[in-house]
Amino acid sequence: MLLQDNLTQAKNGEKISARGYAVTHKDDTFKPFDFTRHAMGENDILIEILYAGICHSDIHSARSEWKDGIYPMVPGHEIAGRVVAIGNKVSKFKVGDYAGVGCMVNSCGECEACKQSQEQFCENGKTIFTYDCLDCFHDNTPTYGGYSNNIVVSEKFALQVPQDAPLEKVAPLLCAGITTYSPLKFSKIKKGDKVAVAGFGGLGLMAVKYALYLGAEVSIFARNTLKMQEAKNLGVKALYTDTSECRERFDFIISTIPTAYDVNNYVDLLKFGGEMAIVGLPPVELKTHIDVTRLVFSAGKKVYGSLIGGIQETQEMLDISLKEGIYPEVEIIGVNDINKAYENLTNGKAKFRYVIDMKSLEG
Ligand SMILES: [Zn+2]
Ligand SMILES: [Zn+2]
Repeated sequence: MLLQDNLTQAKNGEKISARGYAVTHKDDTFKPFDFTRHAMGENDILIEILYAGICHSDIHSARSEWKDGIYPMVPGHEIAGRVVAIGNKVSKFKVGDYAGVGCMVNSCGECEACKQSQEQFCENGKTIFTYDCLDCFHDNTPTYGGYSNNIVVSEKFALQVPQDAPLEKVAPLLCAGITTYSPLKFSKIKKGDKVAVAGFGGLGLMAVKYALYLGAEVSIFARNTLKMQEAKNLGVKALYTDTSECRERFDFIISTIPTAYDVNNYVDLLKFGGEMAIVGLPPVELKTHIDVTRLVFSAGKKVYGSLIGGIQETQEMLDISLKEGIYPEVEIIGVNDINKAYENLTNGKAKFRYVIDMKSLEG
C-alpha cells in the first residue's frame, strides 16, 4: 500500500510520505514516526529501504552527545535497498537496481573538496549528512535517516550495488567500511607494513580486514581478550589489552575507540615517520585531548583525524569488499528491537553489527 502511494507521489512531484522510527528528545526511546521526504528532483532516486545498519554514531547523535540533535530524529546512515522510482535525468540507476546510501546525501559540488570527491569536507560547509542535519538544498528541512521505509537521494550520492550482493552486509560497509578503508588508503598501507588497530568493535573489525587485505601485519588493542579467538581466526598477529604491554613499533595505527583514552600512549608506539589515524569519536564531555608536549617529544610522527570518505572512494571500497568478500559480522533485528540494540551497544554487549530488517516496519 505504502509503496504504491510513494510511486504516485513520485510521479506527481509531491512530497514522499515515509514511516520510520524516531526519538523525540535525547533521553527518549524509539517509537514509530510518520513524516515526509522532499519531492523527487530530476536527478533523484527513490529507494525502498530493505536494511539499515545501526552505527555507534547513531547513538551519540540520538543522545545529543556531539551536538544538540534535531528532533524528532530518525537515525541511520548505513542504508541498502531497491530503487523504485527515478527522476528524468538519472543515468546511473534504473528501477529495480540495488542501491546504497551512506553518511551524506548532498554537497555544493563546486568547491575544491567536492571536485575531488571529498564531499564530506565541502569547503562551503554544505555537506548534508543523511540525518540530524538541515538540508540547505531543500528549504532547510531536517534530513531523516535509514530507520525508515524509504529515502529520496540525488543519484550522485547513491552507491551502486550489484544484484547478487548480500544487502544486509552491504549496509554497514557504507559507514564502518569506508571509515576504516579511507585512512588505510590515505596512509598508503602496503604489503609488510606493521599496522595496529585500537578498539575491536564494528569499526575495528573492518579495519583489521582491510589492513590484512592490503597485506599488512596486523595487531589489535582491545579492552579484553574475549575476542582473542576471533582475532586469531582472522590472522591477527597479537592482541594487547593495554599499550604498556606492547613492545612492537608500528608504521600505522588506526584508533576506532569511541570512549576517552590517552592518544599519546599510542603515538609512543609509532615508528619514526609513522602515522596514526583517529576515526573513533568519544562524546565531547570526555574531553579526549592530545598532549602537545608529548607530541613534540614524539617528533617525526603524524596524527590525523579521518571522517568517512568521499563518494568515489566509497564506491571503490564497496566494489573491493564485494569482490573480496570483506564483510562485517551482522545480526539482523526488527524495528521493535532497536531500543534493546542501543542498550547492548552502550553496555558493550553487542557482538556484531546490528542491521534492521525494514520489512519488520510494516508487520
Ligand atoms: Zn556511522
Ligand atoms: Zn563543496
